[in-house]
Amino acid sequence: MRTSKPKARELVSPRVKLFTDSVIREMTRLAAVHGAINMAQGYPDFAAPSVLKAAAARAVREDYNQYEITWGSTELRAAIAEKARRFNGIQATGEDNVTVTCGATEAMVATMLALTDSDDEVIVPEPFYECYLPSAIISGARVRHVQLKGPGFGFDEEELKRAFSGRGGRKPKAIIINTPNNPTGRVFSRSELGLLADLCADNGVLAITDEIYEQIVYDGAKHVSLATLGDMADATVTISGASKTYSVTGWRIGYTVAEKRLTEAIRKVHDFLTVCAPSPLQRAALTAYSLPESYYTSLTRSYTRKRDYLMKSLEAMGFDCLKPQGAYYILADFRAVWKGDDVSFAEHMVKDGGVAMVPASSFFSTPGLGKKQVRLAFPKQDRTLREAVERMRKRVG
Ligand code: GLN
Repeated sequence: MRTSKPKARELVSPRVKLFTDSVIREMTRLAAVHGAINMAQGYPDFAAPSVLKAAAARAVREDYNQYEITWGSTELRAAIAEKARRFNGIQATGEDNVTVTCGATEAMVATMLALTDSDDEVIVPEPFYECYLPSAIISGARVRHVQLKGPGFGFDEEELKRAFSGRGGRKPKAIIINTPNNPTGRVFSRSELGLLADLCADNGVLAITDEIYEQIVYDGAKHVSLATLGDMADATVTISGASKTYSVTGWRIGYTVAEKRLTEAIRKVHDFLTVCAPSPLQRAALTAYSLPESYYTSLTRSYTRKRDYLMKSLEAMGFDCLKPQGAYYILADFRAVWKGDDVSFAEHMVKDGGVAMVPASSFFSTPGLGKKQVRLAFPKQDRTLREAVERMRKRVG
């Protein structure tokens, strides 16, 4: 006989209770409820390139509609490997080193599940893009933060060395590096990444690098892949994808590039997580990876203009912003215009100001950090940006 009815709350795994829903996507939902302009979630509100839309439609028509090879079509893996060699300087082949995933987020979860184990320690520089924490928790790994210190959000060498030396005689398993960085906009230099590469190599630590914004850099900044530095070629998982570079965030085409045995492990996990990334969109992504150099030049030019406009407007309203060197976010300190914390400011702006943004505390797990900042995403049409600025001016200007 049944003694008590199961309580839904008790049926939820304790692991899942350790992380919250995405604050970024919660702000998107609130933006919809309040009819606010969504400057919270980083996705373009402008059209994807027409050649890509045509390629996707063609792929469906030509019946690329069934499962693909689970770790990515042969052609797309070859195209990604070629891009990795040419753009990143990573020696890769589609056969041995590339896994196509459902976006960079799945790439991160699959990598963590494949390569970290219960109680492994993973170093995550803080502030951090929010998916790294759930990825670690779902894998059973423990997170250790090191601080990216303001105003420039650089690494503190001593703190890094302490973190790499581990705890109780046990070294960390991995470090997650995100460059260009979300939310700070930092593009880590060759020498900063060189230091990280040396620390990884000296301590046998795996580097997992999220390079999804690699093509969005400003003012001549150079994107450097950590896998190309020191002895890290075989101990780095490089993650990127089509979403940001080609303005197709909903296609969910991401990938990992890694040494053969690491790749085999990632493929195994990916296979049982999602089977494969959408087949017709893998086909269409071939067109993306064969776009001419001029595409990337105009992408950066357009984002530079948007960044400059939003920076200038926010500063004129009294926000204190760090000029992003890459990616498409501005972290804005609102102390001069609002007395409360980041959550109250973001709530006020989405409900009464008609503009959604992300409270910056969601990019930190250390309590008390990020309380005076919000993150604004600017991959938006010029008129959307103008309208957002106008609405903000009415509230805070
Ligand atoms: N990377 C984007 C951001 O930070 C969002 C990605 C997502 O919602 N999956 O806003």
